Amino acid sequence: MQRIAFLGLGNMGAPMARNLLKAGHRLTVFDIVASARESFRPLGAAVASTIPAAVSDAEVVITMLPSGDHVKAVYLGDTGILASARADTLLIDSSTIAAEDARAVASAAATYHLDIIDAPVSGGTSGAEAGSLTFIVGGAAAALERARPVLEKMGKNIFHAGDSGAGQVAKICNNMLLGIQMLATAEALSLGVENGLDPATLSGIIAKSSGRNWALEVYNPWPGVMEAAPASRGYVGGFGSELMLKDLGLAQQAAGASRSLTPLGSLAQQLYRLHCQNGNGKLDFSSVKMLIAGS
Ligand code: NAD
Repeated sequence: MQRIAFLGLGNMGAPMARNLLKAGHRLTVFDIVASARESFRPLGAAVASTIPAAVSDAEVVITMLPSGDHVKAVYLGDTGILASARADTLLIDSSTIAAEDARAVASAAATYHLDIIDAPVSGGTSGAEAGSLTFIVGGAAAALERARPVLEKMGKNIFHAGDSGAGQVAKICNNMLLGIQMLATAEALSLGVENGLDPATLSGIIAKSSGRNWALEVYNPWPGVMEAAPASRGYVGGFGSELMLKDLGLAQQAAGASRSLTPLGSLAQQLYRLHCQNGNGKLDFSSVKMLIAGS
């Protein structure tokens, strides 16, 4: 089994790393938060307190970090991953970041002759726990084939979107659509409820009609309609509104670069920004229903 270094042990990274341990990989972990990395010691992982110590002996390095600035800080520089990894190490960045940041890190990796893929994920924390994530990969096909056996320990679906950065582009296209879809679903349910309909009855009708969609059918934003959805537990857990706002911002950044028309994505970004400014950034993104329905 390969020696893997895992950096970034947050809501997503920790369960992904645990699945690699369960699969029998030898794991070295690193996070800037000491308690996050120390929680892996009892599980049998080696714990490193610097990036060079984490990656210098690894065959595969995986990063799961909040943003592009974090990714660049961790990969680049004298004590970064690129300068510290062995010549044959495979690098996998699963963070959701701007495609241009992913391409910048990939160009830097090329100067070290290191294989790297951007491999952002879909499936949320429950998918990370269950090992059922979807990986959306950008980079060389050969690098993806090297990564595939490792990705399969953490996910069920693996897509090759194209060259470096393409995984990030596909990911933000999906999340822009999801953010719009959630707002539209909340708006339709709110209209129905304010006109006397029961939200569960209306959801059942739309689920068998042409307005059906994932936000409605799997992740319903109205409390009480779907027992397992964050809406039915006070919007705690799930995918934070501030992370949705981040992804909508990345979509607008990409749209600016390509001069694409994204009016609904732009409006969704504004509405999520307002929702976060109202103090709801940590709540699941389906809580945007409160902005639409007033509570
Ligand atoms: P998180 O904030 O819970 O975890 C990030 C971790 O990175 C933290 O433990 C933090 O201490 C660590 N970190 C920060 N800087 C570091 C550094 N320099 N060196 C080492 N560790 C460092 O975030 P998350 O929810 O796990 O999300 C991670 C990425 O996955 C983000 O890009 C996010 O957009 C994406 N994502 C999240 C979800 C979700 O549902 N949470 C779903 C899909 C994708």
